[in-house]
Amino acid sequence: MDIATKLKKIQTEIPEQVTLIAVSKTKPIEDIQTAYDAGQRVFGENKAQEMNQKHADLPKDINWHFIGHLQTNKVKYIAPFVSLIHSIDSSKLLDEINKQAAKNARQINCLLQFHIADETTKFGLNMEEATNIINRYQANEWPHIILLGVMGMATYTDDIEQISKEFSNLKSNYDHLKMQFFPTDSKFKEISMGMSGDYCHAIKAGSTMVRIGSSIFGARNYAR
Ligand SMILES: *Cc1c(COP(=O)(O)O)cnc(C)c1O
Repeated sequence: MDIATKLKKIQTEIPEQVTLIAVSKTKPIEDIQTAYDAGQRVFGENKAQEMNQKHADLPKDINWHFIGHLQTNKVKYIAPFVSLIHSIDSSKLLDEINKQAAKNARQINCLLQFHIADETTKFGLNMEEATNIINRYQANEWPHIILLGVMGMATYTDDIEQISKEFSNLKSNYDHLKMQFFPTDSKFKEISMGMSGDYCHAIKAGSTMVRIGSSIFGARNYAR
């Protein structure tokens, strides 16, 4: 199947209210243009310079989402145009994003990334760290940041029960934060969870954004 066909197939599998992020990391401009021509407007990348270059080379109505661990010294490459950063895992990162957003006279949308997987290698916050960040956010420490919700990655495993449990944990974290801190904030509404291998389970658990790469663009040449 070609990219456009795979894209259409996934579109029919996910509910209308769930945003499909086409994860184009490592893939060439031509593949992204093909998906764009098939109607896709939201793309995910996990390397700041690569995303900067692709933004320069492709149509300007693409929404670029940053989905990987973001080093503070790389924020400047994406601050002028990024639509949503999924991977907030420290207050230091918010300090830098706020600073770079101010330089660009804009606000930048962000998600708090939670550590939900049974793996030590994945980045992310726990509830206590997230609560501390939200308290500082609501004290207006980062006026150029807008928090839209949460993100998480499940363990890389075939154990569907475990994956579903991890997604439910993220949904429950979101529900607690929403109730406690954002009951009247209509912007805090996103739960970014689900990739090629597990998006069906993520959607069942309440995902509002799925990040799908290999099922659209094919396997990547190297893991990263
Ligand atoms: C690569 C990546 C994805 C997409 O993975 P696929 O298995 O190719 O769908 C989703 N989320 C994050 C954070 C990623 O790094």
